[in-house]
Amino acid sequence: MKTLILGGGLCGVTLARILSQKGEDVTVLEQEPVPGGLCRSQQTNGFTFDIGGSHIIFSRDTEVLRFIHDVLGANRAERVRNTKIFYKGRYVKYPFENALHELSKEDCYNCLHEFIKALIASEKGDMRPPCNFEEWILQTFGKGIADAYLIPYNTKIWNYPPHLMSAHWMEGRVPRPPVEDIIKSAVGIETEGYTHQAVFSYPVTGGIEALIHAIAAPVRERILTGFRVTHITEKTGGYEVSDGVRTLNGDRIISTIPLQNLISCLSSIPDDVMQAVAALKYNSVMAIGIGIKGEVPPYSWTYIPDAHASLANRISFPSNFSKTTAPYGCSSVLAEITYNEGDKTSRMTDDEVTSHIISSLSSLGLFTPDQVVTTQITRNKFAYVVYDLDYIRNITIIRQHFKSRGIPLVGRFSQFEYLNMDGIIRSVLNYVNELA
Ligand SMILES: Cc1cc2nc3c(=O)[nH]c(=O)nc-3n(C[C@H](O)[C@H](O)[C@H](O)COP(=O)(O)OP(=O)(O)OC[C@H]3O[C@@H](n4cnc5c(N)ncnc54)[C@H](O)[C@@H]3O)c2cc1C
Repeated sequence: MKTLILGGGLCGVTLARILSQKGEDVTVLEQEPVPGGLCRSQQTNGFTFDIGGSHIIFSRDTEVLRFIHDVLGANRAERVRNTKIFYKGRYVKYPFENALHELSKEDCYNCLHEFIKALIASEKGDMRPPCNFEEWILQTFGKGIADAYLIPYNTKIWNYPPHLMSAHWMEGRVPRPPVEDIIKSAVGIETEGYTHQAVFSYPVTGGIEALIHAIAAPVRERILTGFRVTHITEKTGGYEVSDGVRTLNGDRIISTIPLQNLISCLSSIPDDVMQAVAALKYNSVMAIGIGIKGEVPPYSWTYIPDAHASLANRISFPSNFSKTTAPYGCSSVLAEITYNEGDKTSRMTDDEVTSHIISSLSSLGLFTPDQVVTTQITRNKFAYVVYDLDYIRNITIIRQHFKSRGIPLVGRFSQFEYLNMDGIIRSVLNYVNELA
């Protein structure tokens, strides 16, 4: 069985490794000069920046975590999360609901009061199931925490109004915080939330791309880079895949590339499927790396919900994950800005974005402009899946079509799901198990 894997991001290389371990003949077709997709890292003047935005390793899935830890071996260091939220001019602990005593007395009271009101309404059965993401936030955390942090932050990161987003993807992902924790948080007794991420890991050298190289090591020869799939022809018992110059034959294809790219390679896509793919929402991310002379704060990363404070929604400090990501005596900062093609942010030049980031982050006290020794910026078109209110209808049409056509969809923008690296590896393991 000869399998052609379309796309060489984390998903494509993991599929290649696992299928080849099972004795299959695989070839990965990747458009870029290097594999890795969103998990690529770039060296700039001695600094290593993750160009798809900051990536850390964590999971609730112990099998997947073991797989990642095993492939990285000694090239992995554990860190204890020290994450902050920039709120009303100060850095408060993350998650926000675990830091209520760090707020002003009025804000703390308001968050606590509204949380308890929401909890009582829910216990009395006074709440209908949430119709959208914003309602889910209000019902789960109460209006205080929602207005102060969750609604502005989510509006910024998704670049889409939470009241126009679906709530379905929250089920099982984020539970209501225990009331005991909220009360402890309000009176100043230390609690920790989102605990499966409280200790995370990161490669010692090479940035997150080191994970791709470690996974790809046994199948390096099977990855064909610089091959942008443009045509897929379905033939009896197989496929012809071409980049317009070269053509490869396979008995099976597995797509890990965005659905939007896949449909343009195929003929005879029904109108309803075309429309459903066109209606899917996603956003793009600019990752702005800044090399700093001297120190940065000891934070892992910090969220900036306030739209006026900076265009960036999250700032990470890669040199706090691994010292090797910055030259001796230096440290590093990685800012992320979400945007959509055609919007005001997307029309800013790279220089405009970089100078905005340097001035806004300097105002937030993270460094001073004279400390900046290098910068670099990358625009990632497909970054986050946005679950709008029509998502389930559209994705159902699309998945039924590709299922009936016998083309498996695995990967973040192929399944069109908000999957982190662990979710991608889980999808690969599930796919391979189903084959067996
Ligand atoms: C800002 C940001 C931060 C993140 N942080 C974390 C984190 O901290 N921890 C975590 O676990 N996860 C994180 N993630 C998620 C993680 O990046 C993804 O889960 C993972 O990289 C998805 O891998 P993939 O292979 O499915 O997709 P991709 O990485 O998108 O790979 C798809 C590949 O297909 C290629 N391709 C596309 N079209 C074609 C074509 N026509 N022909 C050939 N090749 C093609 C692309 O070049 C790409 O290499 C983050 C994501 C973002 C956007």
